[in-house]
Amino acid sequence: MIYLDHNATTPILPEVLEAMMPYLTTEWGNPSSSYRFGSKLKTVVETARAQVAELVGAHPLGIVFTSCATESNNAAINAALKAHPDKRHLVTSMVEHSSVLNYCKALEKKGYRVTYLPVDRDGLLNLADLEDAITDETALVSLMWANNETGVLFPVKEIAETCRARGVPYHCDAVQAAGKVEVDVREVQADYLSLTGHKFHAPKGIGALYVWRKAPFSPLIFGGHQERGFRGGTENVALIVGMGKAAELARKHLPDYDRTVRPLRDALEEGILGTIPATELNGHKALRIANTTNISFHGIESEALLLLLDQAGICASSGSACLADSDEPSHVVQTMTPGTAASRETLRLSVGPDNRKTQIQAVIPAVQAIAASLRS
Ligand code: PLP
Repeated sequence: MIYLDHNATTPILPEVLEAMMPYLTTEWGNPSSSYRFGSKLKTVVETARAQVAELVGAHPLGIVFTSCATESNNAAINAALKAHPDKRHLVTSMVEHSSVLNYCKALEKKGYRVTYLPVDRDGLLNLADLEDAITDETALVSLMWANNETGVLFPVKEIAETCRARGVPYHCDAVQAAGKVEVDVREVQADYLSLTGHKFHAPKGIGALYVWRKAPFSPLIFGGHQERGFRGGTENVALIVGMGKAAELARKHLPDYDRTVRPLRDALEEGILGTIPATELNGHKALRIANTTNISFHGIESEALLLLLDQAGICASSGSACLADSDEPSHVVQTMTPGTAASRETLRLSVGPDNRKTQIQAVIPAVQAIAASLRS
């Protein structure tokens, strides 16, 4: 198997599993218990919180553990709306993850107004559109750091500055940025920022939400006093420890990330675009994370391409893994190429540090042969 879908999920690092093992075996207490067997785990959770905080330059008290980034995104939007019930307008983009877009669509049904900012052919956002969209009614701006389908980076620093200047809270979905580019909430002053462990080599089912100390917060999940009342539910200590360890490693490996994955991605991209006719890059060539390429193969349905790639042992996708079981075209590529078939003809390849040059060298001829067979 050759795995080229690291934006969907990543393998668990051995060090992460090792760090988690005691909490899946002997140390199974409840951190909220009064006796030491449980209560000593509070320190373990706090260490992980500090590790996650450090990955994004935050104060540990600003980190709330969640079950995933879908929950983090929902919690951030919910918190901003609850803080200002009179403000019934949100600003987001047409290329956000479904965990933001589908919440916004549900809110529209409840009478909220949502402005979905467009992007251009390269997937870039126009800041003037954001300026124009914000009104006195705006409760929240939610714009992602890096796009999961194309890897394109939004100008998050400028977005955060615009929002602060206009007095509107900013939520940033930084799921695809953490561990790939420097994410620092002291630089990019978001009010809320979402993360998920499984995109940087922790297991699935653990996420985090950074909440700025001055940002309002009310929980999405009511329950006990866990997470300082920000999120009820007994802490999943093992997963929290796993995310903490993965965050520590992501931070440690960040200086090497670009150097490791960019040559692999570039070789893959050039190998496809340079040799297979009627292929086209989706997304700005420079302003994107180093591991992602998104290519349309004109005249070839994504589904057929992915099926044959799977048969050849190559894991790839046509867009978001969360929507892979629907036959809808990519909403991201559709926004970038309105009125064309490109969004039904896309292939997303996202490499990781665990990929090898020999794998890339094997994938290029496989893709060439599959594209030729589908076009013959
Ligand atoms: N946001 C982005 C940009 C993503 O890529 C994903 C995962 O695919 C999510 C949010 C949701 O993450 P999770 O699977 O942890 O709910």
